Amino acid sequence: MSTPRLYNTEGLVLRSYPLGETDRIITVFTKTAGKLRVAARGLRKPNSKLAGHLEPLTCTNLTVSRGRTLDVVTGAESRESFYFIKTDLPRLSSAIYLTELVDTINPLESPNPYGYSIYLKGLCALEEESSNVQLILHYMEMHLLIQAGYSPELHQCTECQGKIVEGNHYFDPSHGGVICKACINHQTNFRPVSIGALKVLRFFAKSTLKDSLLLKITQPLQFELRSLMDAYIRYTLDREMLSKAFVRSVSKLEGTVHVPTT
Ligand SMILES: [Zn+2]
Repeated sequence: MSTPRLYNTEGLVLRSYPLGETDRIITVFTKTAGKLRVAARGLRKPNSKLAGHLEPLTCTNLTVSRGRTLDVVTGAESRESFYFIKTDLPRLSSAIYLTELVDTINPLESPNPYGYSIYLKGLCALEEESSNVQLILHYMEMHLLIQAGYSPELHQCTECQGKIVEGNHYFDPSHGGVICKACINHQTNFRPVSIGALKVLRFFAKSTLKDSLLLKITQPLQFELRSLMDAYIRYTLDREMLSKAFVRSVSKLEGTVHVPTT
């Protein structure tokens, strides 16, 4: 049986860039087929009917035609445009950062329905006016890392496998999680981690987003979590997310949340 020429899929548009004079290449994270790179013809023309449905940070129903080199979008109808996120700078910068994270950890054409559902839930939570942006970010980072196979070890020492007990815990990104005092390697970037931060991270790892958003965490704990997750993501993915600087600038501009730089 031959493969159908057309297929339909739901997807979240991650980014797009120009192709020739009037077209664009769209990177879209789909519900069933993973991350795809597709062409959208005439998208840069002023009268394009597809343009509004294929903007980054849009959930859209796509009809795609298989092409020799690139598949081509022939139809698109947005399901959710996340208007509130796009009018609120802290939420927008956070959504852009999460989108970069999703783009970075997902290879092309590798189906990941759980990753898709986590990303969609995170954007829907950011779209809610009263939701806590920092908690959403912490939760999303944890679950995007877990689904990509980068789950940090939070219960036993990554060196001796001993159970981590209160008062004897450090975190070392190069070891992939917690480490006990006896196993610290002074050549690496280990750092102390409070029992409060450990408990919150363990809770995020096993809980739903809805339950995690009920947590009340102090600002010092929030700073610690931010610094720790930034260090872990930087080491694990071997790069700094480009949009992280944008998130920090917006946070400073807003003056509400201090984002550590290390
Ligand atoms: Zn140990």
